[in-house]
Amino acid sequence: MKSDKPESGLDRRSLLKSAVAASVGLAGVENATAAPVDTDSAIPVPSSQSPRQTTVREKVKITRLETFLVKPRWLFLKIHTDAGVVGLGEPVTEGRARTCAEAIREIEPYLVGKDPRDVIHHWQAIYRHAFYRGGPILTSALSGIDQALWDIKGKLLGVPVYELLGGPTRQRIRVYAHAGTPELVREKRAQGFTAFKTGPARLNNRYARIVENKAWIDNAVAKFAELRSIVGKEGDIGIDFHGAVPPATARILMKELEQFHPFFYEEVINCQDVNLMAELAKTTHIPIATGERIYTKWGFREILEKGAATILQPDLCHAGGISEVKIIAGMAEAYYASIAPHNPLGPISLAAGLQIAASIPNFLCQEQVSLGEGYIKKPFTVRDGYIDLPTGPGLGIELDEEAMKDKIGHDWRNPETYDPDDGSVTDW
Ligand SMILES: [Mg+2]
Repeated sequence: MKSDKPESGLDRRSLLKSAVAASVGLAGVENATAAPVDTDSAIPVPSSQSPRQTTVREKVKITRLETFLVKPRWLFLKIHTDAGVVGLGEPVTEGRARTCAEAIREIEPYLVGKDPRDVIHHWQAIYRHAFYRGGPILTSALSGIDQALWDIKGKLLGVPVYELLGGPTRQRIRVYAHAGTPELVREKRAQGFTAFKTGPARLNNRYARIVENKAWIDNAVAKFAELRSIVGKEGDIGIDFHGAVPPATARILMKELEQFHPFFYEEVINCQDVNLMAELAKTTHIPIATGERIYTKWGFREILEKGAATILQPDLCHAGGISEVKIIAGMAEAYYASIAPHNPLGPISLAAGLQIAASIPNFLCQEQVSLGEGYIKKPFTVRDGYIDLPTGPGLGIELDEEAMKDKIGHDWRNPETYDPDDGSVTDW
């Protein structure tokens, strides 16, 4: 009787070698020839009778985690493996890059020696064994790790992450640009953008007071009206209150801006008071967006249940990574809410957001502040408001180490803002 074992093993070896070879040619493999896959210690796979003999499970191990600060305020992560494949992630909370790097160092002993492809299992272990759950630092560290593990898995199998998540769900991905002045709107529009976001204009450099006067409100409304007229009726422009406008002023501003049909109102108040955000959401027909400071499915559950927002903006680098944002998108779908990932960070964060956009049905628009020029070998390009569906394996990007040499290291600090009249602390 013929045994199927040698044949099966050969097939698996060939498959994995092909996948790694594909990755060598396409993206992010380190020392591929110097670090061959250990094909003699393969994990057993089901017999040929099994209907589940569909995956390659050669032994692959994580060898080390490497972080490095990248200008202007980012933290990049490389997860190295003994297969020569390196996964990329951005495990950072803005203003606390070093703290996040330390969190990664504390998680590293758990991951070293483990198979990087057990992405959800590692997510659960890192999240739940921490005992103290959530929060910006730990979930940002976890988010970057999750991105890197998906990147490795996609590279080993030679496919984009969205292929592993059931995509693609679309052929191109809409993105929006920050533009707070007429000049910037024109500049970004010339680059191909059709969707934009601004913030409430300050009067005499003053952030919103608890109750603002008519001059401040009129100025903010006039500045938004000017931008809206340049964007035109075919374009979209949202306005981000940044959680920095006190509720009484937010209520007035929302009413006054409605006539200009904003794309959305973002963080009209601080997300800490979900009940109040839900109350404000009921006062307007403009969609409320929130989520950049909300973590995991448990944080977004309350937003959805209370009807505080219909556009969720989980940050791929804060909310729990690709694994968690996929789940959050499913929860949102049940409430007819959409996903517009927050992203004021770098190209790895953008790449992770694009993979999510291509994996879910309820995607609205992706935020970005960098298309990766000077950081990745093939920066993204925008055409008619959209980025083409990425096709490379994993996250689909490769760092341009040469171009990044002058961007390593930073000492970025969050702004410190005060009321110009009385010196009291304000949000920014
Ligand atoms: Mg925001």
